[in-house]
Amino acid sequence: MKSLRTIALKEAQNRISPEVKSPSSKISDFFGANVFDKKKMRDFLSKDVYEKLISSINQGELINSDDANQIATAMKAWAMSAGATHYTHWFQPLTGTTAEKHDSFFEPSGDGAIEKFAGSALVQQEPDASSFPNGGIRNTFEARGYTAWDPSSPAFIMESKAGKTLCIPTVFVSYTGEALDYKAPLLKALAALDKAAVDVCQYFDKSITKVNASLGIEQEYFLVDESLFNARPDLLLTGRALFGHMSAKGQQLEDHYFGSIPERVFTYMVDFENEALKLGIPLKTRHNEVAPSQFECAPIYEEINLAIDHNQLLMDLMEKVARRHHFRVLLHEKPYAGINGSGKHNNWSLITDTGKNLLAPGKTPKNNLMFLAFFVNTIKAVSEHADLLRASIASVSNDHRLGANEAPPAIISIFLGSQLNDVLDEIEHSRISKKIKEDNALWLGIPKIPQILLDNTDRNRTSPFAFTGNKFELRAVGSSANSSAPMTILNAIMAEQLTKFKVEVDKLIKKGDKKDIALLTVIKKYIKESKSIRFEGNGYSQEWEDEAATRGLSNIKTTPKALDAYLTEKSAELFATTGIYSVREIHARHEIMLENFYKKLQIEARVMGEVANTAIIPAAIAYQNSLIENVKGLKDLGIESKSSLEIVKKLSEHLDIVKTNIDAMLEERKVTNKIEDTREKAIAYDEKVKSYFDLIRYHADKLEQIVDDSVWPLPKFRELLFMK
Ligand code: ADP
Ligand code: MG
Repeated sequence: MKSLRTIALKEAQNRISPEVKSPSSKISDFFGANVFDKKKMRDFLSKDVYEKLISSINQGELINSDDANQIATAMKAWAMSAGATHYTHWFQPLTGTTAEKHDSFFEPSGDGAIEKFAGSALVQQEPDASSFPNGGIRNTFEARGYTAWDPSSPAFIMESKAGKTLCIPTVFVSYTGEALDYKAPLLKALAALDKAAVDVCQYFDKSITKVNASLGIEQEYFLVDESLFNARPDLLLTGRALFGHMSAKGQQLEDHYFGSIPERVFTYMVDFENEALKLGIPLKTRHNEVAPSQFECAPIYEEINLAIDHNQLLMDLMEKVARRHHFRVLLHEKPYAGINGSGKHNNWSLITDTGKNLLAPGKTPKNNLMFLAFFVNTIKAVSEHADLLRASIASVSNDHRLGANEAPPAIISIFLGSQLNDVLDEIEHSRISKKIKEDNALWLGIPKIPQILLDNTDRNRTSPFAFTGNKFELRAVGSSANSSAPMTILNAIMAEQLTKFKVEVDKLIKKGDKKDIALLTVIKKYIKESKSIRFEGNGYSQEWEDEAATRGLSNIKTTPKALDAYLTEKSAELFATTGIYSVREIHARHEIMLENFYKKLQIEARVMGEVANTAIIPAAIAYQNSLIENVKGLKDLGIESKSSLEIVKKLSEHLDIVKTNIDAMLEERKVTNKIEDTREKAIAYDEKVKSYFDLIRYHADKLEQIVDDSVWPLPKFRELLFMK
């Protein structure tokens, strides 16, 4: 019988890409074609309702039921004219993927049937949500949760061969009002940020009435041929290779990054980009990444809620379209040990309704004071809540990546670039004379900030949180993550920080300081207080780990312990003042994250055992048997064969270690599974069960290097990585 690997290799060699036709050679011709965007709203709604909807989008004003009916009717008319038959509320439960429950517009009526979509169906739906993770908030016997329309993210049509569906972005909450998704807390954090940031803006510019965060998400991913993927139970079930020796050629020649994109991959990229563009996802960049078979795409930044919806949608699309090309896309943070993993860089900044980027240095000293206020408050916020930010990017899969030699460490630090670093040092050591009466004199006290910063930031890719000219880039986010998790935290800590800033500044003003002096005084204080989090050197080095320890910065390497930061008093205060999580919600979330962590390790451990026992060990034994025959035969001929005998022995050694440790791991799992406390269980899975992984793999990979290639059952790394 031919092995799955043999069949897969043959199939992978004979791939023909499907033909991909772009709707038009001009992207602007089809960009957003499947989105109920402002232009379509205007076409399908009365002027009055259109304006109400826009103000609801911008100011969050409530929409009454009459207007909701009109909007629903308009959406239905548009969707049906585009060929949609069904609608769904589209949401982001804590499973990490997106969820939908489709209903058709069709409804039987007295004299036949009609297509109907009421305002109430637009605004709210009750999916039977008992099987979504809820951390104990909702018992299954009261399995009611509901989804509620988020007008700030436009409805869109998902196309598939079999039909089209109108998708309505929603939040997902329990019947008792607790958030069960990623979006609801994000929206709360953004509301808190808006208020706090507008208040601080008032010191500088009275015309600013709204501040929103912007986000541009760079998405890294791996591609692998579908047949090879299917012949690897580990990739299939866990998204990463639990076994496999690195191929002789990996990324050491650095020949993949920005190299020409292989034709088959290029065809795939164009295909999913077209789908994404039709959905209004403004994809702009595509290129190879550092590791073989690793790629990246990035959109133009957008308002943050939309950017995250788009990223979630993009991940879905990438997976869906990959199948048409007989590819599988791996979004796992570390699919292959020994080469780079994948991240999702979150480029974040704050933008006002007057169009000003608050993290872009200005032309005039006055603008620079405004810039400094937001810039320094960001640094201060991150330094105050570094552990929480660390927690927000924690996951079982990101644990493999953080602190590996190609990704930021688990230590949160901030990179500013030498110019801004100097500016902050200068302010820190300057004297702010309270006697200064003239504004002009004060401005001399603010170091000059070049409006266009030298882009020295690209040379430091080792920082988890780097300032890159007019935005911060959180690079520690994992490639498979929902960005809402870290972005909820980032925006919430920023909101809290700006609120505190205003209190301090107002206090000084009340005491008689001039406004600008008060601002600069508090900025200077924050610069001092947050100094230890600033780091300009090589974040991947051992020296930094050592130095960070002496600075008192945390270096929490694993998820179950990192997640503790969600339950500290400091975090509780943050959640309460910004309103993003109730006590019940955060405990539920904490529980879900821990469960998710150990369940994934449990699956990995099982897959490891199964693959070792049923594929690797039998292959090694079969090969060993053939060698034993060989040794015996040679002996019969009177020839003493040392090499065959040695291989037989080597195989035995590795086989024994693999088998013994698989069995020991199974016993460990039995013990661990009995632990009641979720946190302890997660830690035990991490420290006890997972500790077998490397050892088992090491010896299994040794077997891979010894056993006859033609009988090895699993596609090898060279095949997974280089066949395209
Ligand atoms: P790189 O980090 O690879 O050098 P760029 O700096 O060009 O790439 O951009 C990375 C991402 O940052 C893009 O998605 C881009 O749209 C986004 N970006 C640029 N400016 C901002 C901003 N003010 N706010 C948020 N994201 C931004
Ligand atoms: Mg970047």
